[in-house]
Amino acid sequence: MSDLLPRHRAVMPSWLSLYYDEPIEIVRGKGNRVVDAEGHTYLDFFAGILTNMIGYDVPEVREAVERQLATGIVHTSTLYLLRAQVELAEKIARLSGIENAKVFFTNSGTEANETALLLATYARRSDQVLAMRQSYHGRGFGTLSVTSNRSWKNNSLSPFNVHFLHGADRHLPQFSGLSDADYIKVCVEDLRHVLVTAVSNDVAALIAEPIQGVGGFTMAPDGLFRAYKEVLDEEGILFISDEVQTGWGRTGSAFFGIQNHQMTPDMMTFAKGLGNGFAVGGVVARGDLMDAPHALGLATFGGNPVSMAAANATLDYVLDHDLQSRAAVTGAILIGGLREAMGRLPVVGDVRGKGLMFAVELVDPATGAPAPELAARFMAETKKLGLLAGKGGIYGNVLRMAPPLTLTDEEAREGLGIILTALGTINEEAGR
Ligand code: PMP
Repeated sequence: MSDLLPRHRAVMPSWLSLYYDEPIEIVRGKGNRVVDAEGHTYLDFFAGILTNMIGYDVPEVREAVERQLATGIVHTSTLYLLRAQVELAEKIARLSGIENAKVFFTNSGTEANETALLLATYARRSDQVLAMRQSYHGRGFGTLSVTSNRSWKNNSLSPFNVHFLHGADRHLPQFSGLSDADYIKVCVEDLRHVLVTAVSNDVAALIAEPIQGVGGFTMAPDGLFRAYKEVLDEEGILFISDEVQTGWGRTGSAFFGIQNHQMTPDMMTFAKGLGNGFAVGGVVARGDLMDAPHALGLATFGGNPVSMAAANATLDYVLDHDLQSRAAVTGAILIGGLREAMGRLPVVGDVRGKGLMFAVELVDPATGAPAPELAARFMAETKKLGLLAGKGGIYGNVLRMAPPLTLTDEEAREGLGIILTALGTINEEAGR
């Protein structure tokens, strides 16, 4: 073990919770694999929390970044024209499906959501915001207030008046046995009730993740958000889709996660995967909202030339190689394989996901209660077997997996084999 861990502990905050009892130091990457300082290779099924969207050491991205670095310009600011920014904004505006869309670039998802909330609350002259239970939108002052996840919420101070909605919580006992259509009906009635009881007449927006990331890849049934939007439209309440995890084809069935609900939001926020590791985020919004006088940008640093070069190259790669279709194929191998094995594995309480964003929920086989200790065991086992996975969910018992969209069919089957081996081991231990 290197001396890095004690040095990390000494100078970095203790709340930076590192994965694994013996945290790994990633030093190299190629394709969909990374190598640690001790020379172990891992198939990467978490991709830096869904950030390394097209894998590692991609020549197209490296060359675009090197071309930009060769100009000597790493940063210009928002004061000057930047061709790569305009080009990327044009592509994102077109892909968004939002009418007269305009784009503002940031450096992270938190900043993207802070910007969207600033725009919405300004446009609607309201501090009232709706968000979803179990949500995660970042830990800035505004984004924390729309985050509904106790382990990430160390205070409840809020610049907004926030109300949290149902929609990604079908597992609750009061919803058990409901069909998708009936669950959507119940949720819509609850939204209407919130609107007449909990708020005044000028709610600014609803912010929602199409599939909740940190919340454990919990999903609203397709169509729920369209039903919500129909109600919100009656009052001009804006819909912000947080696509930080679900954008760019990851769900296989749609390019942006919210499009699985057959509707177009008023704004979408993005980050993570777009830069394939370079710092980029942003908001794409209806032009009238983005152009509101005095809305102004959140900061001056977003959209720097190096990030823009990486992001243009990454987005072109995703489109040129039709990685959305690839995600549908590899996701079906993985989700199908896991569902098929579920019956033999009483520790598996649920398998869910869309495309290359899928989760396995671990439970105590005797009681069905969430089993976070089994998730820790799974992480240790998959590390040994050479696969990086993620954890999450409000009880910490959800295994989250989201490999690069460039995953091959062979790698999908290899990963499935490792996951099933690890699940088999912990299933056997739990049955003893
Ligand atoms: N929104 C969602 C859905 C996220 O998953 C995250 C990060 N996990 C964020 C926003 C915040 O993004 P960042 O960490 O880049 O600020």
